[in-house]
Amino acid sequence: MEIAEIIQSDKEHFMTVYGGRYPLYAEKAEGIKIYSKDGKVYRDFLSGIGVNSIGYSNQRFKEALKDQIDKIIHCSNFYYIEPQAELQKKLCDNSAFDRVFFANSGSEANEGALKLVRKYFRKKGKKKYETITADRSFHGRTMSTVTATGQDKYKKPFAPLPVGFKTVPFNDLEALKNAVGEKTGAIMLEPIQGEGGIYPAKQEYLAGVRELCDEKDILLIFDEVQCGMGRSGELFAYQHYGVEPDIITLAKALGGGVPIGAFLAKEEVAAAFEPGDHGTTFGGNPLATRAASEVLDIMLADGYLDNVKKMGEYFIAELDKLIERSDNLVESRGMGLMLALELAEDLSAKELTQLLFERGFLVNAVKDHTLRFLPPFVLGKEDIDLLIENIEEIINF
Ligand SMILES: *Cc1c(COP(=O)(O)O)cnc(C)c1O
Repeated sequence: MEIAEIIQSDKEHFMTVYGGRYPLYAEKAEGIKIYSKDGKVYRDFLSGIGVNSIGYSNQRFKEALKDQIDKIIHCSNFYYIEPQAELQKKLCDNSAFDRVFFANSGSEANEGALKLVRKYFRKKGKKKYETITADRSFHGRTMSTVTATGQDKYKKPFAPLPVGFKTVPFNDLEALKNAVGEKTGAIMLEPIQGEGGIYPAKQEYLAGVRELCDEKDILLIFDEVQCGMGRSGELFAYQHYGVEPDIITLAKALGGGVPIGAFLAKEEVAAAFEPGDHGTTFGGNPLATRAASEVLDIMLADGYLDNVKKMGEYFIAELDKLIERSDNLVESRGMGLMLALELAEDLSAKELTQLLFERGFLVNAVKDHTLRFLPPFVLGKEDIDLLIENIEEIINF
């Protein structure tokens, strides 16, 4: 298709949920660069929203996928699936959890986790069906997960919404304690809030939440769909805090670009599910689990995640120096390679994103005055330097 035909098809046939798209026509990609059909090249500091963490066109990853395509792409969960067996073993061996369920997206992983909580308490004979989540959180787009999401703009248009959800301010243990009642079955949190604008949880908050959950027989779910899979510098963000949830959900970077989500739970919790309680046609299929299995091997190789920590520290230090040199930048936030730059009220994140796009950099205006960075883990100092230089030129203009 010619570029003009692509645009025309979109205009005529695609549901208008993404507003105006940026004029990038992704044709191929390598490392942290995306090559557009019109000959332009972009340094990607967003990774397909935290998906392409191992970078584009990783040789070993591509070979594994090609090998799997030659063998078998899809097979029902009625039968044994070798790559799935390998992946679930690796995930459990490298985390605090015993059992896994594979889904196709973050929303579905969260949806499944919420169902598991309901079943867990039903089996115990307790009416604890309510889930408490945090303001500014994002948990997905299905009816339950959009209701769990602590941002009105995502859910208001879809009322009436499912019952059994409540939101409280994030990082405020008192507010959470006050919201807990007889019916509270779960507390679901992102250890580092992503779509909300990159806000890490405080150590004493997560530790306090864990204690509260133990005390009141509440299950703790960590939504690590965005902050998991190495993004924070550890394989899972909870490992930074030394606070273990009962259930964790994953997606985004898990499959290196092949759609896959998962939720993992401790044995005692997972045991609530009995045959027939949950299922999926595609979830955990051979291609998706082979992809995720390869991603895990890549990330678990010696020293691989050290680059996330190293580049993350360099990136945030450079952002802080830039903030010191500028009048219209407020603060930096984040962990590892999950970072944000808060702009002053008179600077629009959307405009800055547009100007950076024109200069060949992909970043995300996650809020009106907040830029979000989720670059592939394979970026180098020179990529960060170039981005900072360009931001500085634009804001000083
Ligand atoms: C992206 C995201 C989701 C939803 O994932 P989808 O794959 O888009 O359904 C859920 N939770 C968090 C924290 C996310 O960042």
